Amino acid sequence: MDREPERDAARPRHDGGPDESAAGDGAPHAPEPAGGTPTGGAAGRDAPGPRRARRDAEREKRQGGVSRRALLTGAVVLGGAGAFGYSRRDELERWWWRYSGAAAPRVEGEVDHVGAEWIPASGANLRRASRPRDFGVDRVVVHMPEATYDVTLKVFQDPSHRASTHYVVRSGDGHVAQMVRELDVAYHAGNRAFNERSVGIEHEGWADQPEYLTEAMYMSSAVLVAGICARHGIPVDRDHIVGHREVPDVVRICPGSAWEWDRYIEMVRSERDALG
Ligand SMILES: [Zn+2]
Repeated sequence: MDREPERDAARPRHDGGPDESAAGDGAPHAPEPAGGTPTGGAAGRDAPGPRRARRDAEREKRQGGVSRRALLTGAVVLGGAGAFGYSRRDELERWWWRYSGAAAPRVEGEVDHVGAEWIPASGANLRRASRPRDFGVDRVVVHMPEATYDVTLKVFQDPSHRASTHYVVRSGDGHVAQMVRELDVAYHAGNRAFNERSVGIEHEGWADQPEYLTEAMYMSSAVLVAGICARHGIPVDRDHIVGHREVPDVVRICPGSAWEWDRYIEMVRSERDALG
């Protein structure tokens, strides 16, 4: 049975704790290892409530702070460079971004997905990075939080939760909140290597309540994932768009057996094709 007894628990159950393990060791809820330095710093001081976050986002918007970040996806082709030369340069650049301590520029309130509402997760629930310059992104992980949209936002803003996803999609109307930049590593997959290479998306609802799987949510998620695949050059297939339960060393039902994978992938493919 997929039904979870603590359905009204005030936190998404599938990631009810720190969500990165050091080496995919089957302990998805182990604390973030020392190597990954959360930027939260003073825990508790960086987690605005949902209302505050929304107000901040709105203020940013009014001040013209929202601008669409153009992600460099390695599409710049240098004349005359052979395949080897290009990939070697790419590798060196990643190495530099990973170890230099440099931070990619970021603007408060900006979103990667057009139309998303910026509601930032607590800095304790993510690791700042400079993807795709330090870690290549080649997976999308589909989640279902076993919680409402509002509760999911709230727990990802809570620094003690130690988990978050990049996006949360609302069931009723498909509204998308972006909580973590695609630049950064969100703690969502319960597997550190997978977190570094993926973008995670929560879809409001419970695995055993398929009525939460609305057409609006599927459609909105498909448009979102099509954009992620376009930005990062990710193929639209089941090898690259996976459920949380398919992540290695993770024992989860998420997103549940009612998720219509075939139809969903077709929707993503169609939206991806439309982007050209
Ligand atoms: Zn999950």
